Amino acid sequence: RPEPASDIEIARAAAIKPIADIGETLGVPWKAMVPYGHTKAKIDLDYIRSLADRPDGKLILVTGLTPTPPGEGKTTTSVGLSDALSAAGRNVAACLREPSLGPCFGMKGGAAGGGHAQVIPMEDINLHFTGDIHAIGMAHNLLAAMIDNHMNWGNKLGIDPRRVSWRRVIDMNERALREIVAGLGAGNGMPREDGFDITVASEIMAILCLATDLEDLQARLARIVVAETMDRQPVTAADLEADGAMAVLLKDALMPNLVQTLENTPAFVHGGPFANIAHGCNSVMATKTALKLADYVVTEAGFGADLGAEKFFDIKCRKAGLKPAAAVIVATARALKMHGGVGLDDLKSENVTAVRDGCENLLRHVRNIKAFGVPPVVAVNRFDTDTDAELAAIREVVAEEGVETVICTHFADGGAGAAQLADTVTALADGGESDFKPLYPDEMPLWDKIRTVAQRIYAAEDITADKQIRNRIKALEKAGYGDVPVCIAKTQYSFSTDASRRGAPTGHTIPIREVRLSAGAGFIVVVCGEIMTMPGLPRRPAAADMGVHANGDIHGLF
Ligand code: ADP
Ligand code: MG
Repeated sequence: RPEPASDIEIARAAAIKPIADIGETLGVPWKAMVPYGHTKAKIDLDYIRSLADRPDGKLILVTGLTPTPPGEGKTTTSVGLSDALSAAGRNVAACLREPSLGPCFGMKGGAAGGGHAQVIPMEDINLHFTGDIHAIGMAHNLLAAMIDNHMNWGNKLGIDPRRVSWRRVIDMNERALREIVAGLGAGNGMPREDGFDITVASEIMAILCLATDLEDLQARLARIVVAETMDRQPVTAADLEADGAMAVLLKDALMPNLVQTLENTPAFVHGGPFANIAHGCNSVMATKTALKLADYVVTEAGFGADLGAEKFFDIKCRKAGLKPAAAVIVATARALKMHGGVGLDDLKSENVTAVRDGCENLLRHVRNIKAFGVPPVVAVNRFDTDTDAELAAIREVVAEEGVETVICTHFADGGAGAAQLADTVTALADGGESDFKPLYPDEMPLWDKIRTVAQRIYAAEDITADKQIRNRIKALEKAGYGDVPVCIAKTQYSFSTDASRRGAPTGHTIPIREVRLSAGAGFIVVVCGEIMTMPGLPRRPAAADMGVHANGDIHGLF
């Protein structure tokens, strides 16, 4: 058999349409589009405001089971499903996240889908795109510069240099910058420990993704807490008078980006917060705009459903007033085998018993989605190595839960490979069965919110934390942050905090290591385990295989 074409070869062979045509599919007039080249555009904010009175389309969440390290196919399934809905004559838009440059040069694998289920122009989307992430980095670093500058010129606010929590950012995997000393050298300010996070882990990315308009954006920026004073009072971006200039830098980034799939289905690719330290969903601006323009909107939430879907429901949907109509839970035979006890190196050989055993992980995600009142369907993203017996086993086990399983081949076949999934999803979304409700009410105390998620979603026995953390939670409530949702940061590889515990563990406790306030984004980050805010490059980075031909074509980018 010939080598299958690489993602970039497939993408380059696509019959890409001018972005004006894609806008027209959604009824967006050309004057409401701000073109970035021929195949990308931002949508004007005044135009978006003019859509306010239109009815909303149906929102479909694509989430997944607990994944293996390469990922199980949420993005590819979102694209395949959108193409299939479009082929069935539906008015549809996909809403995806913007890839970060760091991972692009690290491990092989872009974040714009793969195979015959991609968004294009994939080189642009994976690289500089429309500059949103650069703008976020600049806004973040402007605030950082204004903190050190304030301390340099007399420190009127009395900022304690040891308690500056606002670090710097760069959109690169850069382990050497994780911990640094800034301000060395005479006349260069106050020396202090500092460090860099990857730009997509910035609170500004989370803010951009939750903001509902420019005023809301600036108000959120103003609330960011950057440091504490010598007498332990919070210092905000507004105290430093930085919020206005930050909003200036971000005003274009707030406009959603419109692109297309390989099959010319409209796709909004906008915002992409790190799913561990933030909520991991595409922007509220893009999702809401898509809902005004399309009858069906397909969106993806980062990591498995325990993290991704829970935050999508409890943070994004709660705050933006969104009501999802259906959920797709992506599963793969390889991940089920892993949950059934097979080692990562043996996932390619048939093992029906392990698939069956591993389904306990999938079933817990299925029940969790139901607990939010959203009707689920399981989409099996088919790999070459899957056998019919394995697929039959998944269907049988899931059926016992009263949920349908659809086998999808969009990675190989494009939208045609997800036609049946499109039928099932349309029936679910149109069935009016969804009765979405968040897991906990706003007014529940923070500790109880964390425990509710741990017990009901992770099936944990309880949560634990030392006195210092409990006191910090109490202090946050006293300071008026008691009614915000909790954004739990834990491993995506297990329902527990131990990445090696596959399947559906029970009886575990969730230890809280730290709580962080994201006052601008409007949530409390609850750190349970390691939290990675600056990745490193692997021994041989993907960057080492990249280059550009004399005609400008890129090679080696996936
Ligand atoms: P997620 O969004 O869940 O992280 P992706 O859709 O990005 O997952 O897919 C993860 C990786 O696996 C990507 O590199 C993608 O190209 C690849 N992939 C997805 N589905 C298949 C498949 N059916 N066969 C082979 N590779 C696949
Ligand atoms: Mg993805």
